[in-house]
Amino acid sequence: MEEIEVPRHEHPVRPFTRFLCGCCGAHCTDHERIYGGYRCNEPGCDKAFHKECAEALPEIINSFHPEHPLKLILDYSCPNACSLCQHKFGIGYSCSLCDFHIDLKCVRIPPPTENSCLHEHPLKLSHGEPSDSLEYDICGDCKTNPPPVCVVSSTTHEHQLHLVPRRMDFTCNACGTLGDRSPYFCLQCNFMIHRECIDLPRVININRHDHRISYTRRLGHGESPWKCGVCRKKVDGFYGAYASSKVPSFVVHARCATREDVWDNVELEGMPEEEVIAPFEVVDDTTIRHFSHDHNLHINKDGQILHENIVCEACVFQIGSEYFYSCKNCDFILHEKCANLPRKKRHVCSNQPLTLETVSRAATCSLCDKQHFVILE
Ligand SMILES: [Zn+2]
Ligand SMILES: [Zn+2]
Ligand SMILES: [Zn+2]
Ligand SMILES: [Zn+2]
Ligand SMILES: [Zn+2]
Ligand SMILES: [Zn+2]
Ligand SMILES: [Zn+2]
Ligand SMILES: [Zn+2]
Repeated sequence: MEEIEVPRHEHPVRPFTRFLCGCCGAHCTDHERIYGGYRCNEPGCDKAFHKECAEALPEIINSFHPEHPLKLILDYSCPNACSLCQHKFGIGYSCSLCDFHIDLKCVRIPPPTENSCLHEHPLKLSHGEPSDSLEYDICGDCKTNPPPVCVVSSTTHEHQLHLVPRRMDFTCNACGTLGDRSPYFCLQCNFMIHRECIDLPRVININRHDHRISYTRRLGHGESPWKCGVCRKKVDGFYGAYASSKVPSFVVHARCATREDVWDNVELEGMPEEEVIAPFEVVDDTTIRHFSHDHNLHINKDGQILHENIVCEACVFQIGSEYFYSCKNCDFILHEKCANLPRKKRHVCSNQPLTLETVSRAATCSLCDKQHFVILE
């Protein structure tokens, strides 16, 4: 995967064909949609860029101002207004001799002579109930940023997909949910897909599961009836979904897995699997060295119930009749099950994995307010 640098963005970005709704990271004036382009895969940074914005040339000749070459301007703090549409932009082109500015949305408008036929644009889309003003808006949008007529999305389908620009009810083969307009279609396979489902991420981590999950074009009926690990509703094996790499029964709807509060927006395809850090080293059959303590700990399997003042350092609960580890040099005690708590854990409270830490490193649990081992972001 070839990554490129984008001016004023601290991370390299990678090409993608997914369709996104929202702002372009280059602060251009096209706030509507990004039909593929480039996206940042850095954890915590979810910026996406129009192809044109990411690849903007330092200098161009434009038909709206053919007299002089226009220079690329990147100024997010003191935006210029586009001489055509009057919108302020952070990235665009300017001619300093003539005080002419043009944003990247207007740069894409075809030369004036070709404009006359724009209302017969073959890709006219209907977003909602037809109304004159809406139709006009859509035409305007479509004029500067038309959805592609064909796309190739290797994750979701093996053939080229074609836009069907009209209102119609369909079930998306990639995610199994209904759609009501403008799907992309493969005639050969009778395959229909939402534009939002084009190029779904292949391998991801979600905050409801400790292992990676991967997209499969058709889940099949292996362990069916399948139940979604996020919304708990049924998952139809006929459609695409995500499945766990380690737990065969764990599956997630494509839409649930890629929800903003579930996925951290990082595509893991091609990245090595994170190393599992063990919470302790085994010294011998009965002895361990736990990361939270400086002395060796010894297992106790007698089933004795300790005084109620003696509590486990991790969970702060009394030692009942469970197995526990204790220290011979001091009064440090851990339940056996607490000693085995994983160093990294995923939890619905955050999109990033949490790390197990001891109290000396941190203070109180933000969920229950107790002082004990806490899991930190
Ligand atoms: Zn970034
Ligand atoms: Zn842009
Ligand atoms: Zn403009
Ligand atoms: Zn879909
Ligand atoms: Zn096909
Ligand atoms: Zn679900
Ligand atoms: Zn415990
Ligand atoms: Zn000790």
